[in-house]
Amino acid sequence: MIKYKVRNIIFDLGNTLVFFDHTYFVNGLAEREKHLNAAKFRKYIISNKFDIKLLTGRMNHKEFFRKLKKKFDLKIGYADFIYFYSDVFWENPNMKRLLEKISRIKKYKLYLLSNTDAPHMNFIDKNFPYVRLLKTRVLSYKVHMYKPQKKIFKYLLEKYKLEPCSTLLIDDMKDNIKSASSLGMNVIHYKVHKKFMSEFSRTLKMK
Ligand SMILES: [Mg+2]
Repeated sequence: MIKYKVRNIIFDLGNTLVFFDHTYFVNGLAEREKHLNAAKFRKYIISNKFDIKLLTGRMNHKEFFRKLKKKFDLKIGYADFIYFYSDVFWENPNMKRLLEKISRIKKYKLYLLSNTDAPHMNFIDKNFPYVRLLKTRVLSYKVHMYKPQKKIFKYLLEKYKLEPCSTLLIDDMKDNIKSASSLGMNVIHYKVHKKFMSEFSRTLKMK
């Protein structure tokens, strides 16, 4: 098999560059709204596909808030609601270090490809400045597509004129890895950092 030199690196965001847990949103709200049934709340969001609608930019957050407020009789205001919704991330110090280092050497073109929405992206840029090192971004809510749809990978490759064989995707989701790999991209499934680092150095050494 012919291997090509990697020139472009695409980073996933959630559970790759920063960790997240959406249960913080529901639990944070439930602290405030004592009557809230967290399981029903979560189920309502998923069964109405609000999560997909938000990350593809097909629903705005005011509408999301209004629907939940009405259904669950929430007392909270919009600004606080958005804060709870967004405050679900924490730093991945290992990836912070790697990103800072790799952007300094200027050897690779770096991209961010994320299933996300405006409040989450704003929260991350504000609280995790190292993510701002990735200035070239394809964000699901802006392009109305999301991973693992192949079309979002094709969109990124075509928009920035990248050869799949000289492009590497780092992502924690198996399905995203599969899609990218089927398009001929190099991939690393991000799970344990130490294991990732050995695969990463091996991949970048490819000639
Ligand atoms: Mg992820």
